[in-house]
Amino acid sequence: MFDTLTNSFTTAIKKIRTFDDEKALSKALVELKKSLLKADVNHKVVKQLIDEVGIETRKGEIGKDQFLEALRTTLHKLLEVGGNKGFVFAPNPPTVILMTGLQGSGKTTTTGKLAHYLKSKQKKVLIVAADLQRLAAVEQLRQITTQIDVELYEDETTKNPVEVVSGALKKAKSGIYDVVLIDTAGRLAIDEELMDELKCVKDAANPSEIFYVADSMTGQDAVKTATTFKEKIGIDGVILSKYDGDSKGGVALGLSSQVKVPLRFIGSGEKMQDLEVFLPERVINRLMGFGDIEGLAEKTAGAIDEKQAKKLTKKIQKGKFNFNDFLEQMESMKKMGSMKSLMGMIPGMGNMSKALKDFDMENSSELKNIKSMVSSMTPKERENPDLLNNSRKGRIAKGCGLEIVEINRMIKQFKNAGKMAKKFSGKNGMKDLQAMMG
Ligand code: GDP
Repeated sequence: MFDTLTNSFTTAIKKIRTFDDEKALSKALVELKKSLLKADVNHKVVKQLIDEVGIETRKGEIGKDQFLEALRTTLHKLLEVGGNKGFVFAPNPPTVILMTGLQGSGKTTTTGKLAHYLKSKQKKVLIVAADLQRLAAVEQLRQITTQIDVELYEDETTKNPVEVVSGALKKAKSGIYDVVLIDTAGRLAIDEELMDELKCVKDAANPSEIFYVADSMTGQDAVKTATTFKEKIGIDGVILSKYDGDSKGGVALGLSSQVKVPLRFIGSGEKMQDLEVFLPERVINRLMGFGDIEGLAEKTAGAIDEKQAKKLTKKIQKGKFNFNDFLEQMESMKKMGSMKSLMGMIPGMGNMSKALKDFDMENSSELKNIKSMVSSMTPKERENPDLLNNSRKGRIAKGCGLEIVEINRMIKQFKNAGKMAKKFSGKNGMKDLQAMMG
């Protein structure tokens, strides 16, 4: 995810390694502009971004520090429409969400993904089958809810979605549900009939928020339809689906500022776990090549439990991440499917070669080597990587049958990852990161 965009930013950042004058700044901005346009970012958004980064950088002494700060400030402005959002719970449960979108946009699948995401946060979810237009939609929801073990509300006795919604909300009043997700009808294109139906459903549901699911493969059309939905029924957030099929990905950068509604989630595959929360602060770090440790820990939380993931994030921030944690992370990653989606979250790994990204966790010899190296360590060494002097490394190499250079390389890799993560989350994050990149 965000590979092409991240490349645009990191390439520009690298280009200005030594610049200290106006000429170099202009050159860097031209580079950035070209690559963002190539990534299909809307041209108005690109212009706004380039102009603002230029203005912000010139406010101080032109240099890399200033440029990075300017980039960060501008990206915040661009992406933080309505704050750093993600999923917002209503003050009193249940939080009622109306899921809207055109037919085929991925609305029903995304409803399942969102339920799965909330379930991983220990929330009790009720999905309501109120898409009575598309014949297969209810059956599709039956399959999805069985798969993710979430309750489904359906009413075969009526063809009126308002009745279904009213019935579902009556049931939800029992108070046991944290979130009610209502899957509404779509159409192939926006028409009056659809909008009228949605307005009636909206009145009956009185939702906490309305999400619009937009197919990112439709590019700028996704922005247009989202804008129309915003004008006609009012939406509070956009979920971009099928982002995995959009190799350029530029629409995600402009969408919030173009529609003036925050982008809340991104769907990146057909599986239920292929949904990522879109939090501007985290996305900006990723775009600037600094990874997303919190996102990584959160993904892992689906496989291990949330408390453990939080503890781990704290450990990483304190620089106390040890080999046991490292192994645990690797084991959990195996359960999380696509390596590709995780790699972009690891600092410094965002721009890794394709071959490495596609590497198979399950059968990786690297993982096997790391495991056997850690198994040859004493419990104390696993807890405290600083203990590893040359004689200990020699003993470990013998123990696991690997060359000492291999051991050194893996330990270095581990330490670098830890260092980056720590610096990245520290008080002087920006400066330290620059030093590391530069
Ligand atoms: P709806 O008509 O809007 O409810 O659309 P569906 O949920 O039935 O999705 C339409 C198709 O898009 C299905 O084949 C889904 O599997 C697929 N789909 C949905 N989201 C994604 C995604 O993020 N990535 C990919 N590759 N396919 C998706």
